[in-house]
Amino acid sequence: MSDNLKKQIIEALKSQKEIFGNDLFEENPLKRKTGIVAEKKEKYKDEPALFPDVKEAWEKAENLEKLENLINNCTACKLCEGRNKFVFGSGNPNADVMCVGEGPGAEEDKQGLPFVGRAGQLLTDILKAIKFERDEVYIANIVKCRPPENRTPFPDEMDTCLPYLKKQFELIQPKLVLCLGLTAAKGLLKSRESLTNMRGKVFEFEQAKVMVTYHPAALLRNPNWKRPCWEDLQKFRKLYDELMS
Ligand code: URA
Repeated sequence: MSDNLKKQIIEALKSQKEIFGNDLFEENPLKRKTGIVAEKKEKYKDEPALFPDVKEAWEKAENLEKLENLINNCTACKLCEGRNKFVFGSGNPNADVMCVGEGPGAEEDKQGLPFVGRAGQLLTDILKAIKFERDEVYIANIVKCRPPENRTPFPDEMDTCLPYLKKQFELIQPKLVLCLGLTAAKGLLKSRESLTNMRGKVFEFEQAKVMVTYHPAALLRNPNWKRPCWEDLQKFRKLYDELMS
């Protein structure tokens, strides 16, 4: 083998390791953590695709139930360590409207369902106020495992979990998304703007229109924000009516 060919092979192996880490080199590929390939692909998505057809089973899931079964034992980030239940999301699998929160709290972690605590009750009321039943929409979070002490999820935790949310979007195909709070907005839209700057504007994520408002838990802490939140919701409903007409 020529020196040149050896060099090329070494470079190719190095690039492979750079993209996929040690996972491709493990003796037992079944030990691979769910989510790791997607995470790396997301990170290097703008690089020329070296291995474009490497897909994990969950990426090929054709419905939400299968997706949930394939990812609910995920260990791709540290949040799995403190989790009781993986909070996949719930609601209408064909919803036109999707609500995206930050991450599960204590009650959600216990029940395995999103927005079931006090903030969840307020979210149900918020939706009702703009004439949506809770089971008509789909509700999910940026991260699917509870952060310890309800801390804000770290950017790398959100990035690691985001491919799962994208897959949920692919299956549900919502037209309109209500993003709840700044953390969810940052995680979803990769924006560095303040909540104040984002409110009232229409963004896009995976072909859906996105609007941002206060997190229900923030409204519980600061009832003065209920009025501006109400204004956001009126705009959200108006956009929904326009999109559906
Ligand atoms: N807060 C969130 O952001 N999500 C939940 O599911 C519950 C509370």
